[in-house]
Amino acid sequence: MALSRDDVLRALDQVIDPVSGRSVVQQDMIQGLVVRDGHVGFALEVPAAQGRAAEPLRAEVEAAAKAISGVLSVTAVLTAHDEGAHQHSASSRARPAPEAQAKQGVEGVKHVIAVASGKGGVGKSTVAVNLALALSKSGLKTGLLDADIYGPSVPRLLDIHKKPDTGPGKRILPIEKYGLKTMSLGFIMREEEAAIWRGPIVQSALMQFLTQVEWSPLDVLVVDMPPGTGDIALTLTQRVALAGAVIVSTPQDLALIDARKAIAMFQKVRVPILGLVENMSTFICSGCGRRHEIFGHGGARATAEALGAPFLGEIPLVAKIRELSDAGTPVMVTEPDGPEAAAFAEVAKKVAAALETTQRPAPKIVLE
Ligand code: ADP
Repeated sequence: MALSRDDVLRALDQVIDPVSGRSVVQQDMIQGLVVRDGHVGFALEVPAAQGRAAEPLRAEVEAAAKAISGVLSVTAVLTAHDEGAHQHSASSRARPAPEAQAKQGVEGVKHVIAVASGKGGVGKSTVAVNLALALSKSGLKTGLLDADIYGPSVPRLLDIHKKPDTGPGKRILPIEKYGLKTMSLGFIMREEEAAIWRGPIVQSALMQFLTQVEWSPLDVLVVDMPPGTGDIALTLTQRVALAGAVIVSTPQDLALIDARKAIAMFQKVRVPILGLVENMSTFICSGCGRRHEIFGHGGARATAEALGAPFLGEIPLVAKIRELSDAGTPVMVTEPDGPEAAAFAEVAKKVAAALETTQRPAPKIVLE
């Protein structure tokens, strides 16, 4: 018999909240429970006054869920509710200034990099996937985390339609495809299921994907960021020790205004900008072979120059990129020697070089 929500609730009903002496289920502390093919996700909601002190209870509830027969993985996050509003996760309550907050690294991963954009639809996920593949092809052990929980695209872009296995300690094993280790909430649940999760649950689930997935050993973990500069993206930038960010934009002015917002978000939390990628740059017509500049051209390079950020390269607007993406066979894999793959490889080369330098101590400035 497939595991049901009732099975999980029945097991969790045995866990007693030491503060009230009542079960966590009776007190309605279990929120957003999702059960799918043995994978369980929920939030333990505690009064704001308890905050972090409720961590042992969260661990107990998580252990109780893991102990249920048939459960493969558990995502149990703590959220604190404040005056009726469900605002901050316990760990980010009483939020200190961003720079004062401890940033968390990912065990066994040398560099975590974010691929971000100021708005959706500019090709952020397409660039993230092909950049990860290009880094992998260059010899770096690479992973790809799909952090766009409300609209995960990695299952489609890499044609992955199975659930991840779990290893010792019920840690989630990333799914390997085309040489990449990858994880996406889309592997575990349907999009509409995640839609019931409020921001704090999403943030905590993302942190768990960073800490409870067996990424090690990796040289680079590419994070396909949630679109835009909202709370989810911002919290991720505040809490994860990012080696740098790659910003994707199309060449139009409007898109570039959004790209500036994304750059500002990373700068605020002192994440180095590895550079800007101009996607959907020149269109090369397959019929006449001529170049057309549908969205303009060169806007990202000029914006990068104006902001003092490196320019990483241009990816042409080519129907093939979309067709191959939709088929789950990225251009970097299918046509590794073509001009599109070369464009992604060029970006990857600059990203890898930038990661090398961010690791080195800053050069001494000598005034003569
Ligand atoms: P985002 O992650 O920014 O929302 P996607 O990567 O999902 O954007 O891309 C949006 C759409 O544009 C997809 O259909 C994708 O296949 C297509 N696309 C992205 N980059 C290119 C490109 N360089 N040439 C052609 N189509 C592209």
